[in-house]
Amino acid sequence: MIWYPYEQMKTMKAPYKIVDAKGVYLYTEDQKLIDSVSSWWSVIHGYKHPRLNAAIEEQLKRFAHVMLGGLTHEAAQKLSDKLQSWLPGDLDYCFYSDSGSVAVEVALKMALQYYMNRGENQRTMVLALNRAYHGDTFKTMEIGDDEDYHFVLKAYGKSPNVVHIPTEISALEDAFSKYHTRLNCFIVEPLLQGAGGMQMYDPAFLKRARELCDQYDVLLIFDEVATGFGRTGNRFVADLVLPDILVLGKALTGGYMGHAVTVAGHKVYEGFYDDDPSHALMHGPTFMGNALACSVALKSIELFEEEDYMSKIRRIEEITRREMKDFTDPRIREVRIMGGCVCVEVYDAGTIKGYQQFAYERGVFSRPFLNYLYAMVPYIINEEELVQVLSTMKEWFRSR
Ligand SMILES: *Cc1c(COP(=O)(O)O)cnc(C)c1O
Repeated sequence: MIWYPYEQMKTMKAPYKIVDAKGVYLYTEDQKLIDSVSSWWSVIHGYKHPRLNAAIEEQLKRFAHVMLGGLTHEAAQKLSDKLQSWLPGDLDYCFYSDSGSVAVEVALKMALQYYMNRGENQRTMVLALNRAYHGDTFKTMEIGDDEDYHFVLKAYGKSPNVVHIPTEISALEDAFSKYHTRLNCFIVEPLLQGAGGMQMYDPAFLKRARELCDQYDVLLIFDEVATGFGRTGNRFVADLVLPDILVLGKALTGGYMGHAVTVAGHKVYEGFYDDDPSHALMHGPTFMGNALACSVALKSIELFEEEDYMSKIRRIEEITRREMKDFTDPRIREVRIMGGCVCVEVYDAGTIKGYQQFAYERGVFSRPFLNYLYAMVPYIINEEELVQVLSTMKEWFRSR
């Protein structure tokens, strides 16, 4: 039987069984649901997109997968060329892996080894944010700050190798002046912290982080697994502030299959590139650069450009602001909107208990967590469908 994620199996309610999916819709045997979660924020083009399906079918005729150890192939080469030209600055070097968590692990390993390759073995510390989420593997749990998910780490006590700070410039400056000789990197989910509760903060914080990283020679890592591909209303937050390492996942493959990439800038790549074999990056997930995943990712980027997805995202934000304007309720702490993300934070988690079933009955799939009721819709959603998602949220508060 299936052991489901983040659930107490003894008390979990039965999951909805999906039998078909097309566009923004999920179909159960008896209901049609707008997926307001985009299958964990990844299905940006909607389900069963004809051009994405065709890209996979085309590649499948040749082969589904070959390893990147000692071999290479056109799908991975083309995607890397595309990312190199499409991503900002000198983010040119693409290291693939099979999930966002692993891609973050790779970024952290790069940052640590970058300094080790220079003989600076004392740089073992990572600076991260309060409420950070970077994945569910052990090192990503350690740099995360997500007691609700990762309380298992309590068994180890507090890690001496991670410092967490709030998104305040004064805290940032203090941390750098205190720890800079031991830091290898500062890692952030830029502008929008997803699993930590759709927390939003100002680009000025990231600009200051870039300056301090330059001043103290510390690497800046953007985990854009959730924010990449337009979710914040920016194509990438890296378009505003350039990191040394960028991590992409989730929307990267249009939601078709697990794949992710850690993209390094020139300086980082140069730190590994020499005659000493021990300076190589020793990593290699079995399914890195999977040919089906690469071909669908490339097509996904082409669609994003050709169909001007950034204007679709601006439209989603406009409609969301219009619909949520003046919507208040004493049980609501804050309504936050950024690009293709809206979050209603309530004071008491009990307030949104039962919302999932309420939404189901009104044709919307939603998955609130803790105190957060949110939507991150597929970008192809039309106005009427988006209004339905938002009205369902408002109706919940009005009806009780
Ligand atoms: C989802 C997520 C991850 C982990 O990605 P997986 O593919 O689930 O391993 C890492 N970082 C951020 C910011 C995420 O939202």
